[in-house]
Amino acid sequence: MCHDATRQWNIVKMVKYLGTHEQCVAFAEVNGLLPKSRLCPMHKTQMALHKRHPVGFFKCSRGNCRTKSLISRAAGTWFEGIRLSFPQVFYLMYCFTHCFTRESIHREDYASVGRKFSSATISDWYSYCREAVVIFQLDHQEFKGKIGGPGKIVQIDESKFGKRKYNRGNNNNLYEDALEGHWVLGMIEDGSEDLRLEVCPDNVRSAEVLIPLIRKHVQEGTTIRTDFWRAYECLPDYGYTHEKVNHSDPGNPFIAEDGTHTQRIESHWRVVKRFFYKDNYNNPANFADVIVEFLWRREIEKKNTDPFNSLLGKRE
Ligand SMILES: [Zn+2]
Repeated sequence: MCHDATRQWNIVKMVKYLGTHEQCVAFAEVNGLLPKSRLCPMHKTQMALHKRHPVGFFKCSRGNCRTKSLISRAAGTWFEGIRLSFPQVFYLMYCFTHCFTRESIHREDYASVGRKFSSATISDWYSYCREAVVIFQLDHQEFKGKIGGPGKIVQIDESKFGKRKYNRGNNNNLYEDALEGHWVLGMIEDGSEDLRLEVCPDNVRSAEVLIPLIRKHVQEGTTIRTDFWRAYECLPDYGYTHEKVNHSDPGNPFIAEDGTHTQRIESHWRVVKRFFYKDNYNNPANFADVIVEFLWRREIEKKNTDPFNSLLGKRE
């Protein structure tokens, strides 16, 4: 496949380059979504790759390993245990990157034969894509000093990621295992796009875990807005002003419990807010998910890169 041809994906190219199972497997291999090699956990030597439908498997031929079961090449990847075809998986990833509604997904669907995607399937794959975006952002964030300060407002929320194991194959992603079912803390200053993300150690979101992460990123004297999670209640002990906001209320994500506007919403925050109201297939992503996805899309727009390539973790 010519690289230039897929610098910018569209539906016609999806059909042409990712329309068959074989094309998709080759593409997944090249992009590190399926591993090309694997070490035997016992012998620490390369296992043999047997390319057999659907994706092939690994086998070690040394000693006792000869009698052991084969390891599917899909183990620990996007494609482990999938009930969809490979072209369907890539099609849904494409749909996510272009914010297709359910109607558009069904209308443009070149990958399915006879059966329409269920709402649950669409919702699941959009969630996996969001997780991939969060992992991408975690990988690429660079911290420049602390955010907030006296008179500044920082919104903080935690979000659970990794309902499904996500793994980028050979890319040596540090978070591939650490993120499974883990809490991620998101912190953003109003009027800024400098979002800080931290994985909560040991999958705990107690005050003992959250407060040090907050102090690492947020200056003393900041007004911090959080949801009603009790771990935040000790924030005033650390020199912060604490306000509680009902983030999960889909009607009023930035409005305080007493009904007053808690902030002057700057222009891009209005965009974030609009983003909130989009059709999320009855599976509303929470505050941090939405902000991360928003920033990811904004970055793509700014740099004029291709969202499908970006979702795959390709650098341009
Ligand atoms: Zn072995």
